[in-house]
Amino acid sequence: MFFSLKNKCNYFSVNWALMNNCNYKCSYCHPDLNSGSIKAPSYEVVVQFVENISSHAKKLGLTPYFEFGGGEVTLLRYFSKLIQLIHKNGGLVCIVSNGSKSLLWWRENAEYLNGVSLSYHVNDIKDEVHFLKVAKILENSNNTRLHINVMMDPHKFNDCNSFAERLKNRLNVQLHCNLYLKGLAMVLSQKNINTPMFKSY
Ligand code: SF4
Repeated sequence: MFFSLKNKCNYFSVNWALMNNCNYKCSYCHPDLNSGSIKAPSYEVVVQFVENISSHAKKLGLTPYFEFGGGEVTLLRYFSKLIQLIHKNGGLVCIVSNGSKSLLWWRENAEYLNGVSLSYHVNDIKDEVHFLKVAKILENSNNTRLHINVMMDPHKFNDCNSFAERLKNRLNVQLHCNLYLKGLAMVLSQKNINTPMFKSY
């Protein structure tokens, strides 16, 4: 018996974990997501894959849509080049990030990021002001849909809660609560922007 699979959306979606290196070591994160045990492929291999996916998606009349998880994918030395290549091929990019890259990096790359899910980790974050500035850069990027998860460490619940409130007051975002596998997170997301995003974290 044969089944016909029909795609109900306009995206050809790829969820891609390029490596598992991270500059944080959050207590609730599994080492598979931060130990650095998986090395990223060479840039040549990555380019070939993006071009194959892009031409295949084009034949199907779909938009290539790449979701990058981690590790912390912004640490990858060729990541800027990669997202520019996807953009040039008409694709969309969405990432999960702890926001720790420099403000200059975010300013230079925001236009190539269609969705950013920023995660606030109360025990590992080095600079809350930096996180707020990154969120502001992304909020001001016309091409980018911003989503923020504030991981609610039960031992620092009030600190997390007050940071989520500060974010809400400084950004044009809605605040609500979600329960994830890793625990409770405050979620802040921008209104009225329809780029697809990671469904969970
Ligand atoms: S920032 Fe994310 S990937 Fe890195 S250790 Fe924390 S939860 Fe894991």
